[in-house]
Amino acid sequence: PTLRNPEQWCRSFNHFIGQCLIKDFEARPSVTHLLEHPFIKQVHDKDVALQQQLAALIQEQQEAGCKTKTKHERINTRKTLIIQSCPDDDLVNLEFLDEEIIINHLQKRYDELQVYTYVGDILIALNPFQNLSIYSPQFSKLYHAVKRVDNPPHIFATADAAYRGMVTFCKDQCIIISGESGAGKTESAHLIVQHLTFLGKANNRTLREKILQVNPLVEAFGNACTAINDNSSRFGKYLEMKFTLTGAVIGAKISEYLLEKSRVIKQATGEKNFHIFYYIYAGLYHEDKLKTYRLPDRTPPRLHRKVMQDIVSSKLYKEQFDAIQEGFRNIGFTEEEVTSVYRILSAILNTGNIEFAAITSQHQTDKSEVPNSEALENAASLLSIGPEELQEALTSQCVVTRGETIIRTNTVDKATDVRDAMSKALYGRLFSWIVNRINSLLHAAESGMNVGILDIFGFENFKKNSFEQLCINIANEQIQFYFNQHIFALEQMEYQSEGVDASLVEYEDNRPILDMFLQKPMGLLSLMDEESRFPQATDQTLVDKFEDNLRCKYFWIPKRVELCFGIQHYAGKVMYNVDGFLEKNRDTLPADIVVYSLMDLLSKMVVGQPHFVRCIKPNDDRQALRFCKERVMLQLRYTGILETVNIRRQGYSHRILFEEFVNRYYYLAFRAHQMPETSKENAVAILERAKLKDWVLGTTKVFLRYYHVEQLNLLLREV
Ligand code: ATP
Ligand code: MG
Repeated sequence: PTLRNPEQWCRSFNHFIGQCLIKDFEARPSVTHLLEHPFIKQVHDKDVALQQQLAALIQEQQEAGCKTKTKHERINTRKTLIIQSCPDDDLVNLEFLDEEIIINHLQKRYDELQVYTYVGDILIALNPFQNLSIYSPQFSKLYHAVKRVDNPPHIFATADAAYRGMVTFCKDQCIIISGESGAGKTESAHLIVQHLTFLGKANNRTLREKILQVNPLVEAFGNACTAINDNSSRFGKYLEMKFTLTGAVIGAKISEYLLEKSRVIKQATGEKNFHIFYYIYAGLYHEDKLKTYRLPDRTPPRLHRKVMQDIVSSKLYKEQFDAIQEGFRNIGFTEEEVTSVYRILSAILNTGNIEFAAITSQHQTDKSEVPNSEALENAASLLSIGPEELQEALTSQCVVTRGETIIRTNTVDKATDVRDAMSKALYGRLFSWIVNRINSLLHAAESGMNVGILDIFGFENFKKNSFEQLCINIANEQIQFYFNQHIFALEQMEYQSEGVDASLVEYEDNRPILDMFLQKPMGLLSLMDEESRFPQATDQTLVDKFEDNLRCKYFWIPKRVELCFGIQHYAGKVMYNVDGFLEKNRDTLPADIVVYSLMDLLSKMVVGQPHFVRCIKPNDDRQALRFCKERVMLQLRYTGILETVNIRRQGYSHRILFEEFVNRYYYLAFRAHQMPETSKENAVAILERAKLKDWVLGTTKVFLRYYHVEQLNLLLREV
């Protein structure tokens, strides 16, 4: 980067000016020119202090003209600026590291609309809850093939690092996005895909467009409005973008995990069903096709949280429907396939209208029938089966005992359960089918490398936590384990490569908690699977089994609360209510298998080089520019950010190349106007003269503790 190219230097303003002056203060670029830069302009427009500062600088520049400063002035300016321009884009560079400082630092940045901050190679992303103008193609260009320090932290920089890692080292990469519900994971994933499609400049424009439409399409089926987030992901998603060896994008593949199917039949107060139901209902209404799909013109019960008038009059739902149609078409679904999807969705909506009544005769009291056949006929017709067949499937069941097949009738309750189970299964299979179809349509014809993007549901802790939360939290526990391994392994590697004792790297390992869940045959999941196989098992016997077999500090049974158990997760204590655990474990895949599939995901990721994005929700009201310290603190704690920063604090948080170190601090041991050779020996001379203790020399770097830099800077001020 050159001084005359502000695009390359568009860091936060102070640092920018600081850098320019340090490098070459006579060649200071025109401040007015700087204001043309989008980044600076954006900050400038919102920040009165900066406006004043800039006005003063412009005046100073005009008055000074090309006047050259004296040597003494130069050195003084330089000293001040070294201190001022300490890059604050990376928490690891902070001189003092404690919770309060980090929080204040993030808050200051958030107030200036700097929503991204690094912790070493990890990106912290604070949800801005407003549209920022920093995601345009112009910004994609800005973050393309430049050094990380040349630009402020950005999600594009993370995507760029992954892309460059892939192309340079011919190695698969993965980007792991975590954070609680509403923190911005899915938005971040979109932005990453956007930047990767830009970088992977396929000559084939259609392919780029197809890839960009995959996320919105899948999310229409897998996302829903919850109490926390209007567009909450109710499944885990791993999107792999496929590239040639030269980095051209050639395809994509999605894997989905643990779709929350129960939402199809039931939503908590204030929550809604999956988006797609509202979209098709509004879309088909406007296209006058409700009759074609046998949809009632009163609100189908599956959508009961929203009155029909709202749905049909909402322009948004109709627009989303059009976007979905367009997405299906662009990705390559045939008209026939799309029609089938709508038929199945309409069948699910109709199924919700099927009601049962008990048939009570002298001999039988446990029989049920469908008194009003309209919904039954509609659903059956849409599924291309006979209504009698469907009625029979719902109101009776085949039981095979001792080689004999017996038909048992269902009570009203049982028939209702079967009806709901059918809706869930239909939806789950439809979702998987869509995902598989997308995968075959976007299949990469040639082999190459890929960048995977993981966007899963975050750690959950509600008032009442059930089986779904347990699965979600175990998944997060595994991601955390993976995070730990990677962060500390990297740290250890740097120590080892520099010949420094790596035993200094210590961290809180969550492996014992994972073992408690996963061990066989005595881990919590194995115990649950075993209990699920006993027909006589009850929720109480399950709790008893846990109590008898799980003996570790991470598990406990609370007194005076029935059918509950507590787990000390890495992210905090969660109380689970076992109500329905066995049933759900039998109904869905056994927990053990689910965790297998997660292992499969992790093993895929381990092969790739990981990049971490930690999304943080600054407030619970979804308000722009509102930074709630307590909430952020909590998230930093349980996502392990503070721990990560702390590890650097315990160890040597600053590793500075000998050359850079001598350059920065030579005044402490040498004459100001006599720049010494930037050697290891001179670095040692400075360290000794500064009377620092406890530093370590690597082969190319000085390893300093976090407070050393503070001490050095203080000394610098005194010189
Ligand atoms: P969940 O776990 O519930 O799926 P999530 O972490 O995926 O949550 P998102 O759906 O990505 O959360 O974000 C929630 C909302 O926050 C978005 O709908 C959007 O309004 C806002 N948001 C998130 N990131 C950004 C961003 N970079 N710019 C503007 N708004 C954002
Ligand atoms: Mg999401």
